[in-house]
Amino acid sequence: MNSTLKKIIIPLLLVVMLPAISYSVYELTSLNETEEMIEEIYVNQLNTVLNSINQYSDLVTAAWTSSLSVALENHQYDLTKLSMNELEPFLNLNRSIVQIVFVDNLDFQKYNLINTGSETGVEELKNIFQSNIEKIERLYRYIEGGYRKIEPLESDNEKTQFLTVIISDERQQVITILEINISTYIQETLRPVILEAAGEEFAIYCISNSDEYKFNFDETVDGKQPDVKSPLWLFPKYELGILLKGRTLSGLIAERTYTNLIIIIIMNLIIVTGVVIIYRTIRKEIKLAQIKSDFVSNVSHELRTPLALISMFAETLEMGRVRSEEKRNEYYQIISQESNRLSRIVNSILSFSKIEAGKRTYNFSLTDINKIVKQIYDNYKFHLENEGFKFIFEAEDNLPEINADSEALSEAIINLIDNAAKYSNDTKEIMLKTYQKNQNVILEVIDKGIGISKDDKEKIFDKFFRVSTGLVHNTKGTGLGLTIVKHVIDAHDAEIELDSKVNEGSTFRIFFKSVKT
Ligand code: ADP
Repeated sequence: MNSTLKKIIIPLLLVVMLPAISYSVYELTSLNETEEMIEEIYVNQLNTVLNSINQYSDLVTAAWTSSLSVALENHQYDLTKLSMNELEPFLNLNRSIVQIVFVDNLDFQKYNLINTGSETGVEELKNIFQSNIEKIERLYRYIEGGYRKIEPLESDNEKTQFLTVIISDERQQVITILEINISTYIQETLRPVILEAAGEEFAIYCISNSDEYKFNFDETVDGKQPDVKSPLWLFPKYELGILLKGRTLSGLIAERTYTNLIIIIIMNLIIVTGVVIIYRTIRKEIKLAQIKSDFVSNVSHELRTPLALISMFAETLEMGRVRSEEKRNEYYQIISQESNRLSRIVNSILSFSKIEAGKRTYNFSLTDINKIVKQIYDNYKFHLENEGFKFIFEAEDNLPEINADSEALSEAIINLIDNAAKYSNDTKEIMLKTYQKNQNVILEVIDKGIGISKDDKEKIFDKFFRVSTGLVHNTKGTGLGLTIVKHVIDAHDAEIELDSKVNEGSTFRIFFKSVKT
């Protein structure tokens, strides 16, 4: 990497890649934490939903207590006077209450039993009362402190629940025990609230601790595990379960984690691709700038050599120092050759600048390729043979005509011959070959020169490109010759192919489309 590229790439990496990498590392490490946090928030939300159901139950029992306390007040707390008839409207409204027992005090001596279908007898009631006596005493203490609380009592029964509350005024207290049919309560009282709280997204169910009794209001989640569980305050032997319909909470979290991971990966891929594209563009631009500067120095050198020769031989001739006619002719020839070389360089620069500006135009007409090649062959034969080349033209007769701009095509072929001569070492042999194959008329320019490596093959048609090793280093050139050739070939809707082996030579093969006549 050269130093200019380093100067650009290092800040680029620092500015773009470093923040992206740090951000990604941070995101990846905190991904788990974030998901845990989300899970916690989510679980809290689910708990709140379940709490709202429990709070609703609290409201219901508070309303029951109020109704019963009104009934007791109506009889100045004489509990024996409370009758079934009187409580009928209340019991009809709350069908889950199957028995109400009013007890005078902790001895359970005086009591009134209002039974609407309970199978629990007095003895059993007394037993439950005795085994929960501590709880009831606590409720007394609460009452003294001005706080009335309804409490579930412990019993073996999973189908019914005994609740107790102390109803009082300033002078007297009555222990009230309510026997609740759990199934009726859940089905009739809680069901609407549960369905409302669950909405479309969730399913909520109640289940007894022994798993024997289950109240599920949504068959679609049958058999699925809940995401969050919470005890049912009123019925300690039961709990509420809530779950997401469709997918599980852990599935949802895993999906989120996966999506986040994919987003991070895609984001990084985009950034890396961006950096690679920027790096490549910069590298290309820097290379082009370097090539352009090489081009300027090459061209200067290319122009300086013929100019120096022309001026030297012209001055010698001018001074009349050359006596022999033969020598004078030789000098004239050199001047003429060098001015031709000069004009070829200038022409190729002009040609190239026209191509670059998109101003190069072509005049196509039906042409015999052999005619063009023969003309070039004749023009160059003497010169090349003089330089020690074996120059051969092998033409197939009666080739179909092609659509070509003779002048432009000549320029391209001359460039190829020029290169063949320039890049030949000891085996000085150039062959021009024309023939027909399928629908194509083919022209080959073959040399036995230094050849072109596989890597360079792709680049030789690029503007300003010159192979930077070996003989090419010593041979001057502008790097424009093959760019012009390629442009002319493309304009002719033709294809150019290169066969080459280092140190064995190169064959440039052009495929023209023949015109059917
Ligand atoms: P240049 O002015 O350098 O000759 P060109 O565009 O004509 O520019 O050619 C580009 C490069 O391709 C040359 O610098 C040379 O390295 C390579 N090249 C072209 N023709 C030949 C050939 N016949 N044999 C070997 N190398 C060649």
